[in-house]
Amino acid sequence: MARQAFELLDFTILRTIELSNYRTIELSSNRFYYLHDMKKLALHWKILIAMVLGVVFAILSMKFGWNKFTADWVDPFGSIFINALKLIAVPLVLFSIITGVAGMGDPSKLGRIGAKTLGLYLVTTVSSIGIGLLLVNTLAPGLQSNEETRLNHRLQYELWAEETSTEVIDGRHELKTASTEQIAKAQMSYKGSTEKKEYKTAADKRKKADKASSEGAAPGPLKALVDMVPSNIIIAMGDGRLMLQVIFFALLFGISMAFLPKEKTGAVFDFFTGMNEVFIKMVHIIMRGAPFFVFCLMAGVLARSADTLDSLLDIFVQLLGYSLLVVAGLALLMFVFYPLLMRLFGVKIGYQKFFKGMSPAQFLAFSTSSSAATLPVTIECVTDNLGVPEESTDFVLPIGATVNMDGTSLYQAIAVIFLAQYFDVDLTIGQQLGIVVTATLASIGAAAVPGAGLIMLMVVLESIGLNPMWVAIVLPMDRILDMCRTVINVTSDATVAAIVAKSEKMKFRDLE
Ligand code: ASP
Repeated sequence: MARQAFELLDFTILRTIELSNYRTIELSSNRFYYLHDMKKLALHWKILIAMVLGVVFAILSMKFGWNKFTADWVDPFGSIFINALKLIAVPLVLFSIITGVAGMGDPSKLGRIGAKTLGLYLVTTVSSIGIGLLLVNTLAPGLQSNEETRLNHRLQYELWAEETSTEVIDGRHELKTASTEQIAKAQMSYKGSTEKKEYKTAADKRKKADKASSEGAAPGPLKALVDMVPSNIIIAMGDGRLMLQVIFFALLFGISMAFLPKEKTGAVFDFFTGMNEVFIKMVHIIMRGAPFFVFCLMAGVLARSADTLDSLLDIFVQLLGYSLLVVAGLALLMFVFYPLLMRLFGVKIGYQKFFKGMSPAQFLAFSTSSSAATLPVTIECVTDNLGVPEESTDFVLPIGATVNMDGTSLYQAIAVIFLAQYFDVDLTIGQQLGIVVTATLASIGAAAVPGAGLIMLMVVLESIGLNPMWVAIVLPMDRILDMCRTVINVTSDATVAAIVAKSEKMKFRDLE
């Protein structure tokens, strides 16, 4: 709410200055009063400040041992925020796709837009994996310079392969030439690694994921397709991991409406349009509290990731090269690749306008680590701040939140090769191309929730014959990298929504 204040200032020059926080400042000679109507600080600044304060609070919390207080009294507000956003995400996906598709009217147009959307999503995903592979192969952050450590890691890999009857993928067998002492040492390290906290956490995640997937259809070549079609829409809507099923239903519903005459479906269309508006209003209401909730989220997440400040720093240092590379790759996508792609397709959204407009969604993605929870705000930002027509955003963004995760795929490519380098496993070009395929599928299959990428990383490692439990090595940094990759996942969806709109010659809203 606007606040008015009178302030006395000493100045010699008569002038009028416009500052972003003050509507008008009136100056009279030497001294003047100015009435400033303190405009609300823009939301993205408030969120950014809250994030910084959250980090400061987490650091203090670790330093002074308040972690229990933070976990009990601060962190839960972060969970409340994520729950509230997720609550809106599923109905919003449903309503926006139905209204978007039915509103297009012409099923052939829908087919064209659908093909463009999926095609572009595939292009951005594969490019992200390519960039990731290029960076990690060039800079090789996982290579061990110490010969003894290198051999020890390698022998651990071969011991695992022997234990699980997995073929050693590069055909080298150093167990044959290593000394008994070296093997005994590697055996101890291997056993020791399985006792570690991170290993147990990874094993736990894996068990849960295995259980969830065994509850579905029987595995087979068409499992992914079978999993996309819901047998019960209520169940699909009730489980955040089944967003693809909700999308399938919404598409089917919207297409069916588009085939029927308007006199028959007018009331249904109005109902869904109205519902869409109500849910968007809910986003506005919840977002008013965003700065507070984001503060709680940041403080809670960081305080949970390490008991003390020293242990947090240790984690950083150990995985510094790898983490910096992931962050650099993500930054490359965000600041170079997407702007170039938009330019290539003739999208006329300026660099500054794009990032300023997207910043609330990006900050939210960073603090919630969930593209699904961020989706309502992404839709808002892309339509209201970038001026992309709803005809595109209503369709492209909900699908993108589920199937298009460039940040996640780049991270998977880097993590797999980093781990292979760490355990001294040589991967051929062919095997790396295999990673492109599996990482693409994994990023499509990954749920848009925190930590989903890590579980998919296990799937990718396993599918190329490496130890899925290696994720324990990168696990300590995972939440922080998850926050970063979610920002890219959201930005990429926005880019594609703008390109699709441009290519369909839709009219962008002029915001100037
Ligand atoms: N948290 C990411 C998202 O929601 C997925 C992941 O990479 O874990 O987009």
